[in-house]
This record gives sequence, structure tokens and C-alpha cells, in this order.
Amino acid sequence: MHPQRMGMAIRKRLCWICGQSMGSHVAFVGGPLSIAQRQFSDPPSHRECAEFALTVCPWLATGTHRRPDGMPAHTFIPAQHVRDNPGVFGLLITKEYRFAGITQAGVPREICWYTAGRPATRSEVEAAIEIARHSDQVKRYRLRDQILTMLDALPLP
Ligand SMILES: [Zn+2]
Repeated sequence: MHPQRMGMAIRKRLCWICGQSMGSHVAFVGGPLSIAQRQFSDPPSHRECAEFALTVCPWLATGTHRRPDGMPAHTFIPAQHVRDNPGVFGLLITKEYRFAGITQAGVPREICWYTAGRPATRSEVEAAIEIARHSDQVKRYRLRDQILTMLDALPLP
């Protein structure tokens, strides 16, 4: 996403999928690590727009799609960007968020899980959390125990 448009969407509380104003609740989509830390590389959207993306977006709905090399020069890629596809994605609903290099969501009102364009089962979510626990990203992280505690606290279907 173009950084200027991303900034405008965040400042004006616009849905980054449809461009329309969002209500009191906003939705974030991310893998288990993003959901656990409430940190997202994408801005928030309407819940309905996020649910639509979870069923049609190749990255979210196939579980195997990889980000291509050679993204356009203006593409904003946060430092904590995860390149591997987690296969299972959480939908986090909250009222608040702030932006500081990466989007930080507020207290979750609801978290539900999707895989392959449909609601994920409990065992699918548990497997994705287990993979996240052993990821290089967690191993390298300074506050490793803190992230593991956050992953353990995630609600399951
Ligand atoms: Zn929308």
C-alpha cells in the first residue's frame, strides 16, 4: 500500500479495503503472532470487508500464497513484516488503534479464526499457534517469554 494513502486511511479512520468511513468497531486481520501482539502491518477495515478479504484474497484464503519478490518501490513494508504465510488468520475486533511504524490495535472485543476462506477449527488454530511458538521470529525476539505468554492466552474456537 502507498504510505501516504495508508497514513490518510489511519488518520481519517477510513477502511483500507473499501475507503469508506468506519464505525465504532474496526477489524484487523493477521497471523497468530500479529493477533497475540495486536500488531498489524495492514491498517484496520470494516468487519464485513475483512471477512470478504478472508474468503477471496489469495494471501488470506489459500494459505499457501507467498508474497512476491520485487514489490513496487513505494510499497510500505514494516520491519516486523512476516514473509511466510501462517495459513491460519485471526480476525480481531476492537474500538481503538494507534499507528507508530506498525498499527497497534486496542483491547480485543472479539477474536475469531479463518483458514482457506472458512472458519478455522480448534485443532487448526492450535497447530498454527504451535508453529508460531517455534518460529524464528519468536526465537530471535528479546521478550520471548512475553510473546509465548500472549500466544498461550489466545482464545480458541
Ligand atoms: Zn470497508
